Amino acid sequence: MYDITVKNVKLLEGEKRVHIGINNGKFVSITDQEIAGHTEWDGKGNYLLPPFVETHTHMDTVLTAGSPRYNQSGTLFEAIDIWQSRKDDLTVDDVVERASKAIKLLISYGVLFIRAAVDISDPNLTALNALLEVRKQFKGKVELQIIAFPQSGLVSCVENIVRMRKAIELGADAVSAVPHLEHTREKGIESLVFCFQMAKEYDTFIHVFCDEVDDEHSRYLEVVANLAIDYDYHGKVTVSHANALAYYSDVYANKVIQLVKQAGITVVTCPLVNSAMQGRYDPYPKGRGITRVKQLDEAGVNVCIAHDDIRTPFYPLGVGNILQAAHLGLHLAHMTGRGDFYSVIDMITKNAATCFRASHQYGIEVGKPANFIVLPVDNLEDMLSVQPKPICVVRDGEMIAATEPAQTRYFEKIKT
Ligand SMILES: [Zn+2]
Repeated sequence: MYDITVKNVKLLEGEKRVHIGINNGKFVSITDQEIAGHTEWDGKGNYLLPPFVETHTHMDTVLTAGSPRYNQSGTLFEAIDIWQSRKDDLTVDDVVERASKAIKLLISYGVLFIRAAVDISDPNLTALNALLEVRKQFKGKVELQIIAFPQSGLVSCVENIVRMRKAIELGADAVSAVPHLEHTREKGIESLVFCFQMAKEYDTFIHVFCDEVDDEHSRYLEVVANLAIDYDYHGKVTVSHANALAYYSDVYANKVIQLVKQAGITVVTCPLVNSAMQGRYDPYPKGRGITRVKQLDEAGVNVCIAHDDIRTPFYPLGVGNILQAAHLGLHLAHMTGRGDFYSVIDMITKNAATCFRASHQYGIEVGKPANFIVLPVDNLEDMLSVQPKPICVVRDGEMIAATEPAQTRYFEKIKT
């Protein structure tokens, strides 16, 4: 007799219904034979998946859209400007309240691993201190990774070098850089070298915001890849966005993609934010707004899809539903083949867990922690089209959120 059994569920790997036994918060049995438990949940033929992993979001800017004003041009530059003025009003309570609300939203959509970049361009590191508090509050429910992110640059804003150091010492998990926003190409490269040096010194991983600009001259991805090789940082580096890669010639793009693969870099694309923000300066025909997702995936690079902002000056919409990002991503990447659907789901589950460095505790496998979600769908097309909230979200065998699936009743007039 197991502590808990989850009966009649489908896994991504197979179409047959299975039953799952859980003891002491861990998966102990996955079988097609009937099993009994002290507590029994009926999965009703729905899909059981590992929880979603959000590899790129912001919990300091979250839920601030319209404050102090809306981003009317939709550009990155206006967003940075608005955030600059909103930052002056930050308090710990303000950030804790918004971040907690956003994390609950993400949990309701089945996200239990969250990597959040926190802007350290603030002398008091208010947002960082608030998020360290939030991480404590959600301990045991959500894994929150905090990236020390220098929105105003590292070399063009030298104070951020000291703040970055302080952020790591206070408890941030990783260092970051934003080379395309540094004042010059040379400063961009310098910022990356600094980022790698500091990562090595503190033994952290790296998450760079890289080439988030529709400009073929923005060529920092090759620099990141080269540094990852030189510093022997295989598997410890992630880049987000890499929009410029879409604008490179095929010859140069192929060279860079091979280098990225060799360096073991994860590439995170954020289809909601990227498609809304990029291409603004393009003449028609405008770019699709995301990096070369399909090409990177086919080359064997670890690619992830992230939701990114939820209602901020950078992106005015979103409820934290990462399946919405996957849905848009597969359109923009031209990944509508049957096999592509599996690849896209991997980009918010398995690949994202690799990026998160959580693979050892991730997946529906005997011996691993019983972390899972059950989505009220019995096929992949519905999962990606309907993008429903999970019926239940389970952490270490304990249900931490549940949603009744939406049901429509039809009345006499349209009954057939
Ligand atoms: Zn972002």
